[in-house]
Amino acid sequence: MNEVKEPKKPIIFYYMIVMVVLLLFNALTMPWLLERKIQNVGYNTFLSMTEEKNIGYVEIDNQENTITFTDKNNEAIYKTAMVEDPDLTQRLYDAGASFAGTEMKQASPLLSIFMTWVLPLIIFIGIGQFMSKKMMERVGGKDSMMFGMGKSNAKVYVKSTKGIKFKDVAGEDEAKENLAEIVEYLHNPERYREIGASMPKGILLVGPPGTGKTMLAKAVAGEADVPFFSMSGSEFVEMFVGMGASKVRDLFKQAKDKAPCIVFIDEIDAIGKKRDGQIGGNDEREQTLNQLLTEMDGFEENNGVIILAATNRPETLDPALLRPGRFDRRVPVELPDLKGREAILKVHAKKVKIADDVDFEKVARMASGASGAELANIVNEAALRAVRDHRSFVTQVDLEESIEVVIAGYQKKNAILTDKEKRIVAYHEIGHALVAAKQTNSAPVQKITIVPRTSGALGYTMQVEEGNHYLMSKEEMENKIATYTGGRAAEEIVFGSVTTGASNDIEQATKLARAMITRYGMCKDFDMVAMEVQTNQYLGGDSSLTCSAETQKIIDEKVVELVRKQHEKAAQILLENREKLDELSLYLYQKETITGDEFMNILNV
Ligand code: ADP
Repeated sequence: MNEVKEPKKPIIFYYMIVMVVLLLFNALTMPWLLERKIQNVGYNTFLSMTEEKNIGYVEIDNQENTITFTDKNNEAIYKTAMVEDPDLTQRLYDAGASFAGTEMKQASPLLSIFMTWVLPLIIFIGIGQFMSKKMMERVGGKDSMMFGMGKSNAKVYVKSTKGIKFKDVAGEDEAKENLAEIVEYLHNPERYREIGASMPKGILLVGPPGTGKTMLAKAVAGEADVPFFSMSGSEFVEMFVGMGASKVRDLFKQAKDKAPCIVFIDEIDAIGKKRDGQIGGNDEREQTLNQLLTEMDGFEENNGVIILAATNRPETLDPALLRPGRFDRRVPVELPDLKGREAILKVHAKKVKIADDVDFEKVARMASGASGAELANIVNEAALRAVRDHRSFVTQVDLEESIEVVIAGYQKKNAILTDKEKRIVAYHEIGHALVAAKQTNSAPVQKITIVPRTSGALGYTMQVEEGNHYLMSKEEMENKIATYTGGRAAEEIVFGSVTTGASNDIEQATKLARAMITRYGMCKDFDMVAMEVQTNQYLGGDSSLTCSAETQKIIDEKVVELVRKQHEKAAQILLENREKLDELSLYLYQKETITGDEFMNILNV
């Protein structure tokens, strides 16, 4: 969209005014600027010019001991130092010059004080007044602060042919459906007014980062063909208390002038956090929030200003912000599912040259859990890779490799593993894959590699989910834990010792096991009691325990028990398939990267 800036007089304009005034001032007080050039000459020149009667006007300055004179035609001005000369007057008279002497004049002290102190002061105060008046006009409110500090700086976008439309936002069909109503309203508010229905004033878009919340807000404005004001919550918070509130006021004033329009506040949690009433709380933030609440109440229904806000921490928002009449509608913008991922990849692939035979579904399957922004990044990485390889289009391999780059970082070109390490890593990865493949409910592997990555991973097994999983059964979760432990189990069986390579697996397995017990009610002893609540659902998911210390102890024991059981199961599977484990590990060790098909072929022989 086009960003339209308010026409501003550049600051240089004001500097120019100051410069002109200073120059004028100087010119008045220092007349030499306006005078013709005076030539300094010797006394003998003066004498000879007098002799030649080539002299017009003479001024004798007794105070400075100088004689200023002109030639006969008054064309040039000369100046000379005065010499004791009693006949001077007579000679000048003879030469026919008109002459005068200046008196010993003393500038009036009052006048000089006025010129040196008062006048400049008056001029500067005048300029200051003028400039602050101009600033006030630009800010546009009587209550505005000096020098635009209370100005909202909201970017104003207006409709343009390049505007983002709903079709640019792939997937997210539910969110789009929800927002389509807003577009309809902005197109035809009369229909709603007639029947007495009122649109929600505020709509909250919630979801993990990079899922297209900003894009959706822009798309609403694009579809409805209305101006789009965008501002981030953190931009409201200024160093001085009261500035944020003033910015909110200003933003709403601008919006009301341009109605119908969309106001988008990104990261609203920066100002909309719960007011906790603690001493030393953030006054500025609270004032800003109060102002926002007031403004939202202040404008009447159906005035055409729709406020969209985005956040990935909805649980931290102040309840007052969420009550009916404010942000009462919540539109979840979740991570895309398989179809959504495929659609997003296709949208972004249109921007790059791509081979015809690219299987977007396969790429989407491999990139499970990726957000829209990550998928956009994957396509871009693939394009960069194609350029690096001097190709003119992006291939399937580029896309697959770039998924790994986005997930695990670039390949470490010169990380040299010792032979033993390489063998251990190969067994470790095959351990994961074999356990995954042998458990019927686990997804088959897509790719296994032991090429070290910049993220620190020495190798990894990429599992592929066949379809979308909205529910996971207890057995599936247990199998997943077993798969995590498979790597370590293989090391134990083959080498009889353990390495640090399993640290990430341990973390993941523990997290899953804990969640099963504390949150999903998958432990009979606790029935359906929540032992933990999850906060920050969209940002990695922290959790806090809600049980007594005794119960915590029991939970810890149960987690260990659960993981141990799965670890044993994984070891059992590997022992039963020891031959395949060796064969596959050797194959991986030699080839470094193998595909899921190669793996299954060897396994099924
Ligand atoms: P958010 O506001 O949710 O953090 P953005 O809307 O800023 O995310 O999205 C960041 C980028 O990710 C967009 O510029 C776009 O390239 C890409 N993106 C995210 N979601 C989608 C989607 N559903 N369709 C197409 N592109 C998307």
